[in-house]
Amino acid sequence: MLLTITTTHSPATDLGYLLHKHPDKLQTVEISAGKAHIFYPEVNEQKCTAALLLDIDPVGLVRSEGPKGNDFALEQYVNDRPYVASSFMSAVIAKAYSSALNGRCKDKPELPLVVMPFEVTIAVLPVKGGEDVLRMLFEPLGYEVICTRHELDPAFPEWGNSRYFTVTLKHNLTLQQLLSHLYVLIPVCDTDKHYWVSKDEIEKLLTKGKDWLEAHPAKEMIVRRYLKNQRSLANQALSVLLSKDESDEEESVTEMEEAPNQVEEPKMRIHELRLLAAKEVLLQSGAKRVADLGCGEGRLIKLLIPEKQFEYILGMDVSYRSLEIAKERLKLERMPERQAQRIRLIQGSLTYRDKRLEGFDAATLVEVIEHLDEPRLAALEKSVFEYARPVTVVVTTPNAEYNVRFANHEEGKMRHSDHRFEWTRAQFAHWGNRIAHEHGYTVTYQPVGEVDEEVGALSQMAVFTYTGHAADTVVKTLEA
Ligand code: SAH
Repeated sequence: MLLTITTTHSPATDLGYLLHKHPDKLQTVEISAGKAHIFYPEVNEQKCTAALLLDIDPVGLVRSEGPKGNDFALEQYVNDRPYVASSFMSAVIAKAYSSALNGRCKDKPELPLVVMPFEVTIAVLPVKGGEDVLRMLFEPLGYEVICTRHELDPAFPEWGNSRYFTVTLKHNLTLQQLLSHLYVLIPVCDTDKHYWVSKDEIEKLLTKGKDWLEAHPAKEMIVRRYLKNQRSLANQALSVLLSKDESDEEESVTEMEEAPNQVEEPKMRIHELRLLAAKEVLLQSGAKRVADLGCGEGRLIKLLIPEKQFEYILGMDVSYRSLEIAKERLKLERMPERQAQRIRLIQGSLTYRDKRLEGFDAATLVEVIEHLDEPRLAALEKSVFEYARPVTVVVTTPNAEYNVRFANHEEGKMRHSDHRFEWTRAQFAHWGNRIAHEHGYTVTYQPVGEVDEEVGALSQMAVFTYTGHAADTVVKTLEA
């Protein structure tokens, strides 16, 4: 496993001082699982590259601290650990480059504060969740990310891609910042067992991440994955990083989707995708008066407000607390009056006929139906499709088939304790087709999120359009 750090700072040879490793010597440090060799393939005033070659001993690994009792007995000996960047790489960075990581340079004390152009290449980095996750982690920190995904086996292209990438990152920053990003984010990409998760890790995470983690948009995913499988540790760390209000706000994202390390698609992204998909349909439909039913904390409404096309936006939810949060989030009370008049939040239940829902061009139900007991769905169907009857109705719901892709999946377990059901694509289509038929709508279905060939996408969306040819009207017309 090879990690190279290159700078074109002038003089580039400062890198040797910063890393506290002399460019002319091959140096070796030992960690419990193997050895790391540091050498310089290129050193001159214009350009300097330090390479760190990590040589893990898989047998030593099992003897020292490796996982016991695997399902696949040989996995202890035959695994990817020697070949990929993982938590071992962090351990090595902390040991081999400790003064640089701590911002110290004995010979040139001012050097650690200097911002330099760096280019880092990680020869093989396993990334659960793929390129999207890689970009979500590094781009907000300012890196240019260049990556190549490797096939599982070039001899069998039909097997598809692996989770392994060769990654190059470019950025101007201090070496200490660079190393602290790598220290935390390499194990966050890799989601195999971390060999060092313990209580001290919270402290290490908070120290290494102190200047950048708090403002990182993916901080929750970073913390949960870094403190892999240690929900209590992750929660402790998060409670330090997040204000209470913020952490309360994530109700609409489901538990399994946000479980530590187990996520194929990062949770922020998938929920945002659902909201963006719904918004896109509303825009395309030409709707002017829109109702977000089960609007929760107003996430979709927030995305709709800037669009002038929407002249009137109604949010409805059964939960008063969610509506209060929505009011705060949308800053309704501080809005200019004309703007505020466009938006209304009301409390109500979708299982009762409600005159306030009539006369809309479009309505959305984003991740709402699965929160109702299945027998109560009939009441929702009536109130939405028979009485309110907007021209366009957008419904999203989890795709249950995708659940097998969550590593913490258990047979029959739903993504969220408040879900009353989760449907397969066929079940959703069966429900949607019946509704369309009975209430005079046409319906189309779309996956939301990256599509897995076998099980589909994480979420699914149905778009209903009113045509006025309801089954019962047809029957009545025939009878007449
Ligand atoms: N659509 C929002 C929230 C989804 S969570 C979003 O995408 O962010 C599901 C929401 O449905 C919750 O806010 C819950 O209070 C609401 N809900 C559940 N049953 C309801 C009902 N019978 N009538 C109205 N809202 C309901």
